[in-house]
Amino acid sequence: MHESFIDRSRIAYFSMEIALRNDISTYSGGLGVLAGDTIRAAADLELPLVAVSLVSRKGYFRQEFDEGGRQIEFDDPWDPAQHATPLEAKVTVPIEGRDVWVGGWLHVLVGHMGGRQPVILLDTDLPENLGADRELTHYLYGGDASYRFKQEIVLGIGGTRMLRALGYRLRQYHMNEGHSALLTLELLRRHAYAAENLRPGEQRYDIPRVRTLCNFTTHTPVEAGHDQFSYELVQRVLGDFIDIATLQSLAGPERLNMTHLALNLSEYVNGVAKRHAEVSRLMFPGYHVRSITNGVHPASWTSAGFAKLYDAHLPGWCCEPELLARADRIADAAIRDVHQQAKERLIERVRAACGVALQPHRPILGFARRMTAYKRPDLLFSDLDRLKAIARRHPFQIVLAGKAHPRDDEGKRLIETLHAHRRELHDVIPIAFLPNYDLDTALTLVSGVDVWLNTPLCPLEASGTSGMKAAFNGVPSLSVLDGWWIEGCIEGVTGWAVGNCGASEDDAQSLYEKLENVVLPLYDGNGDDRSGWIAVMKGAISKNAAYFNSHRMMRRYVAEAYMR
Ligand SMILES: *Cc1c(COP(=O)(O)O)cnc(C)c1O
Repeated sequence: MHESFIDRSRIAYFSMEIALRNDISTYSGGLGVLAGDTIRAAADLELPLVAVSLVSRKGYFRQEFDEGGRQIEFDDPWDPAQHATPLEAKVTVPIEGRDVWVGGWLHVLVGHMGGRQPVILLDTDLPENLGADRELTHYLYGGDASYRFKQEIVLGIGGTRMLRALGYRLRQYHMNEGHSALLTLELLRRHAYAAENLRPGEQRYDIPRVRTLCNFTTHTPVEAGHDQFSYELVQRVLGDFIDIATLQSLAGPERLNMTHLALNLSEYVNGVAKRHAEVSRLMFPGYHVRSITNGVHPASWTSAGFAKLYDAHLPGWCCEPELLARADRIADAAIRDVHQQAKERLIERVRAACGVALQPHRPILGFARRMTAYKRPDLLFSDLDRLKAIARRHPFQIVLAGKAHPRDDEGKRLIETLHAHRRELHDVIPIAFLPNYDLDTALTLVSGVDVWLNTPLCPLEASGTSGMKAAFNGVPSLSVLDGWWIEGCIEGVTGWAVGNCGASEDDAQSLYEKLENVVLPLYDGNGDDRSGWIAVMKGAISKNAAYFNSHRMMRRYVAEAYMR
């Protein structure tokens, strides 16, 4: 079975996290969901791709809350044997002077059109290895800097060696974020000149050749967000895998910066939205950073009701989502009814999980994402009196969800704060906080709410994708103009903008004004006439779902990066 993939796969896609299915916790947030959507789109489009990641047996974590609204974390293990077959090949990577064995699993992602994509999940939990080395592929983003660096050796160097051992003959490598950038070092060693042919001072590695093989997508618009390792650590762990002078010239003089390494060894580099590419160009002067704006996978992010509606009116939309541009021809009543069904499902889920009773005919604002400071989940609650006053005039309800990284203390504090606001506001604004945000919860939320809220601190949202998912379900966004929304927002047509990329107080004011004067009055409509609102729902589908989808994204990666 694996042979059929080996003969045809020519592009290797590396990602530290990939959201494969809801019951496999090998992702922490948007980066992993994007990687999953990339592979799902590749399956639909039958692209010759092979994905590589770590098996992360212990998963990311499962989230619950205590009575105080504090996040409690549990291991969220999965059994690879249930979803994958063991690979025959094993390779080694050098770690602290010893050979660590890397085996792995083949997971076949089967698309809804029947396309099949191989996903290689690397695993060091083998009897050949010492105790600590066996745990290297257990925890996604776990441990300290040394654990992380070793994981990145397994992913980048181990992954590249594994593909060769399995017999893949690859023409392109794609690094989804910098975690896998050590793969470039393995490629440099493969494309090195024999030492005896070199004159003094001559470069030992064929850097131009390696650059033709590599593509790099950056996702992080802040310098501090990029993985960096001290050369002291690098030399202790990686030894003389590659000489330190070469490494410093490629990855930075003071610390090994994975983003710089990837930038210097990739001919094709892109950011994940137009604005993000601009920010990245300022951050990395001298590099040609292009942009391919992210997209989400149509079949995965459309509720069953809308999928049926699109099937009836726009057959083929799943693989050719451009067809959704014609969604404004679907009858208002059909759009309204299908959305109402999705809303009832969300209300039922909220009732079961949180014991909160939401009203089906009042608007629901949804906010769910990784809980971390720059996403500002508390912006909506900056002035509780104001928020209450708005709710007295135009009643609304709120559903929240999101995990904080176990070591992100500020993110965890935000979760507690949101729970405190929920208690404080409960007699005026019904608020529910759904635990354990995952793919399933995300679909229920983005399809069941009426407005999708996003209030990050600009320009820190590289793209954002959950608003695109909402668009597939006719749910407009109310969002700060950052990331994809700069491209997606047509005021009053696809949703609404918050603020002007300025100070936080201004953003909060702008958010309240939009809610009070524009969004909620439009929802309430004119007597029985809800056509104004439904026009915006259709705008979200026909203008945004038609464009911000993974099929457009992957066709562009093929045409502009892989086939350059
Ligand atoms: C889509 C998704 C994200 C990313 O959403 P953003 O809007 O980019 O923050 C994170 N987690 C889950 C479970 C998702 O489905």
